[in-house]
Amino acid sequence: MAVEAEVAVDAGKTYTGKCLCGAITFEAKALSDIWYCHCNQCRHLTGLYIAAAGVKRDNLRIKGEVNWLPISERSKSGQCPDCGSYMFWDSHGFDTISILAGSIDDTTGLEVKGHIYTSEKGAFYEITDGLPQYELYPPTGTR
Ligand SMILES: [Zn+2]
Ligand SMILES: [Zn+2]
Repeated sequence: MAVEAEVAVDAGKTYTGKCLCGAITFEAKALSDIWYCHCNQCRHLTGLYIAAAGVKRDNLRIKGEVNWLPISERSKSGQCPDCGSYMFWDSHGFDTISILAGSIDDTTGLEVKGHIYTSEKGAFYEITDGLPQYELYPPTGTR
């Protein structure tokens, strides 16, 4: 299977989304499936873990002024400056941007693939859904 086929769930489908107040909207094509990330960054930014889908930069069109904040030397988070909705995560090392699944209007067609960064998850909850778990990243080919 070609790499593109793994990333593109349905290359023809355009997903739309927005922040809570509607000041930031986006269109995204060829989204990856959804992963739950339990890393330290996600935990502190949201209070729990995040659900996010990846999109190649060229396939993402954002309207509105996203408030990009540096959260590490290599990554930044994107929020709505008006309502604070956390919508995007961007790392300089990746050719994709993560879109938080909660901001996508209709996630029909996207599946949850599993959990990443479980080594950093909070001790106050257990993962019980039976999906694959990875201490850091899944091995190449399963994303
Ligand atoms: Zn907003
Ligand atoms: Zn994370």
